[in-house]
Amino acid sequence: MKIIMLGAPGAGKGTQAKQIADKYGIPHISTGDIFRANIKNGTELGKKAKEYMDQGALVPDELTCDLVMDRIAQDDAKNGFVLDGFPRTIPQAEALTAALEKIGQKMDFAIDVDVPDENIVNRMSGRRACLNCGATYHIVSIPPKQEGICDRCGSEIVLRDDDKPETVQKRLTVYHEQTQPLIDYYKKQGILQSVDGTVPMEEVFRSIVAILGE
Ligand code: AMP
Repeated sequence: MKIIMLGAPGAGKGTQAKQIADKYGIPHISTGDIFRANIKNGTELGKKAKEYMDQGALVPDELTCDLVMDRIAQDDAKNGFVLDGFPRTIPQAEALTAALEKIGQKMDFAIDVDVPDENIVNRMSGRRACLNCGATYHIVSIPPKQEGICDRCGSEIVLRDDDKPETVQKRLTVYHEQTQPLIDYYKKQGILQSVDGTVPMEEVFRSIVAILGE
């Protein structure tokens, strides 16, 4: 099963993508996580990506597309994968469609987690992330067991630079301009499904399972 998660930054698509990956036994591929791992490891890619990420801008397609194509070609993605944060532009979506066509495949589902802008800014200011293992929390809705500490690896959890309010506003503008057109793109491909992302996350997940099947 090959799934794309769509939705504004902060809509909760990462949380849902992780649960989908667990339930269906497919890898969760998050371009944001891949870039953050590169930043942490001080790679050339990480240095370049950070410049864009810190401003709330998108990393250029030429740095992003090959990375994803290489990742989905790996063995563990043979039976499917859930993409989180990719594609984010029409050229990225076209590159993905073309790469899959070459091997006689196509995406099965594009799931849009729909949350209005008003809710997004509030949500993001409460978001906390572990820069060590990538786990994400929310101070109200998904608090860690011990304040400020990652449940999974014990590192400190922080408000990511790109989740700061001024950056969030910029990311929302970028989302509407560059990523929202993908909703129509996948509607035309006949694989778009929308779920209400404003309800509690367990309910969002139930709606997604109803679409994907038990
Ligand atoms: P995320 O964790 O998905 O919210 O991504 C964090 C940041 O990484 C974004 O604001 C972008 O700067 C960058 N990024 C992640 N995925 C992509 C992508 N597919 N194309 C361009 N930039 C991306």
